[in-house]
Amino acid sequence: MAHHTGAIIQRDGKTFAIVTRLPGGVVTPETLEKIAAVARKYRVPMVKLTSGQRFMLIGMHEEELESIFLDLGPIAGKETAPCVKYVQTCLGTDVCKYGAQDSMELGIELERLYHGVAFPAKLKFGVSGCLRCCGESHIRDIGIIGTKRGWTVVFGGNSGRRPSLGKVIAQDLSREDALDLVHRLLEYYQNNAEPKERTARFLERIGFERLKSELLTLLPYIPLEGGR
Ligand code: SF4
Repeated sequence: MAHHTGAIIQRDGKTFAIVTRLPGGVVTPETLEKIAAVARKYRVPMVKLTSGQRFMLIGMHEEELESIFLDLGPIAGKETAPCVKYVQTCLGTDVCKYGAQDSMELGIELERLYHGVAFPAKLKFGVSGCLRCCGESHIRDIGIIGTKRGWTVVFGGNSGRRPSLGKVIAQDLSREDALDLVHRLLEYYQNNAEPKERTARFLERIGFERLKSELLTLLPYIPLEGGR
């Protein structure tokens, strides 16, 4: 839950955690050294990798937070409102022999576009470079999957207490059309969701037919019978 400090209150109710913001999940030796230096300087009790490809520094006291944020600089992910928590990104065509599309580039672009934007509830993105889906795209609020024919965009997935597979909204899109579709889906969600309503519950409440008639049939790159 968002806290005014931008850090995350812990189970004990008195210590905090800070997560890093590492677009694409990529780190340099300098970034690793900075995280290590901060962990040493403030005697951070635990540093853990999260499922969202972020480092989490855990167990700091409120009076230290401002100074830790300053020392970490832009690699600290300060969150004071519901927002895009992370863009989970697989290796894609840069590295992986199975990669059909450049998931790393698209994931980093999505991180750049939506970092710091407030939404009705938290969002998680997953970008995968092929159908093997290492970016866990089907269970993310926004999922994007690369194929030889372009990008598939999935909306409304969730891996939580009531897991949901996202709805495939469109397939075989160019990079620009995929980004445009994500933008329009998020704008529609922002304008129509209730506070704290995750995309999976939002889609259940409004129904796919309404989303289709109010948004998807207006988009030129989606066939009129769009979705599955
Ligand atoms: S989803 Fe495909 S491209 Fe991405 S890491 Fe997995 S196998 Fe490789």
